[in-house]
Amino acid sequence: MIETPTDISAAMYAKLLELVLERANSSPTGCLLWIGSTVDGYGTLHFEGKTYKAHRIVALLMVKGWFPGAIVRHTCNTKLCVNDEHLIWGTRRENSNDVIEAGGNRKSRNRGVKNGNASLDEATVLLIKQKLAKGIPQQVIADEFRVSQTAICHINTGKRWSHT
Ligand SMILES: [Zn+2]
Repeated sequence: MIETPTDISAAMYAKLLELVLERANSSPTGCLLWIGSTVDGYGTLHFEGKTYKAHRIVALLMVKGWFPGAIVRHTCNTKLCVNDEHLIWGTRRENSNDVIEAGGNRKSRNRGVKNGNASLDEATVLLIKQKLAKGIPQQVIADEFRVSQTAICHINTGKRWSHT
């Protein structure tokens, strides 16, 4: 299991994220549900002899706020969900509280990369560039990463992220 954002290369993250997104289906609740193999109810991705937690890959790439010892919490209480907007970093104690609170009035949280000014990290930008190079339409990519088409356009023209 990978534990920190620096355990593997940006290119590897991009590959893993792509694999995760290939194995997730959207649901009416807004969750992106993992359809691959699972351990303890959580999605697991096997790649090149290693096992990764699907939701953790997404969190490491898409959700800001990682800290040493951080675990990924699901704000939707759906273990199979790999929607970055439903994932937040927390402590084990907070995670236990989540279970206790489950079923109560849970406020939905929007930590995702919704806006054009999104906090896409370099691995994600790399992935988006690969998709652009394949000729995938900007709007399709924007939808996939839940960012504005303007953000994709900026990546395309190198307005931002020109250092990647
Ligand atoms: Zn969810």
